[in-house]
Amino acid sequence: MKKGKISKIAILQGVGTLAFEAGKKAASSQFVHDKVVAFGSSRKIAEDTYRVSSDLLFQSYLFVGTKKALLVDTGLGIGDLSDKVKEITDKPVEVYCTHSHFGATGGAGQFDNVRIGKADIKSARIYSFITRHIVDAFGKGGADTGKAPTFIAVTDRELNGGIDIGGRTIKLFAVPSHTYGSICFLDEKNKVAAVGDVISPLGIQILPFAAPLSSYAAALDGLLRKIGEAKIYCSYFPRALSRDYAKKYLDMMREVSESSTHSGLLTFRGSLKDRMMMLTFSSKT
Ligand SMILES: [Zn+2]
Repeated sequence: MKKGKISKIAILQGVGTLAFEAGKKAASSQFVHDKVVAFGSSRKIAEDTYRVSSDLLFQSYLFVGTKKALLVDTGLGIGDLSDKVKEITDKPVEVYCTHSHFGATGGAGQFDNVRIGKADIKSARIYSFITRHIVDAFGKGGADTGKAPTFIAVTDRELNGGIDIGGRTIKLFAVPSHTYGSICFLDEKNKVAAVGDVISPLGIQILPFAAPLSSYAAALDGLLRKIGEAKIYCSYFPRALSRDYAKKYLDMMREVSESSTHSGLLTFRGSLKDRMMMLTFSSKT
């Protein structure tokens, strides 16, 4: 087995243990649970378009059409996201995840079928298994997330033709980057893009299941061209990221991917002042 592969697996196991221990600690305090859920909020960001959150950290996006609604990402799963969506629309809701990580798939068990990039299905099952331990540890108060979510692969037809929700079509783009199966969403009518963690205020995050940096840079470049001047909404931040930030993000990724200095287990580059840094957990990225 290659060295890079060993470190990825070891880190994944470490993340799982840490998450489980953190969850157990959190379980001791209903106060913590209430605080985390209390931070959840919904906000209209464009016509028939909402940012929805049911936990402290992660944002989901809801596009409401005349026929149905499309929910992008499911948060950590601690709060009742399903209920928050029902407060906004009574239309049938189709759920998609930008990628497999905790903040995107944690609440997937609250919905019947959840679509995700084909390459992320396997890792989504791993992450959602870990996340359910966290949710369980938070005890009663959140949604019933005990059931294992069913993940279905996004089809080529959806990627080519988008999803007609009635009155507008939401476009889908495969962006092998933060994870191999990452999908980004674009509402051309309202100029809103939901990109998950492909562009993140936490910096460039290269975790297990990420694409190589050179591929990431090319995929991000393609995405920024496709979304044009659309506002960029991500998982970790309740407001749109600036175009300037996205460009800096791409520049830094190119610089790092072309250099040979990112060989450490954990590398920080750039400055916190610019909110730009680089995290890599693999020597082979
Ligand atoms: Zn992520």
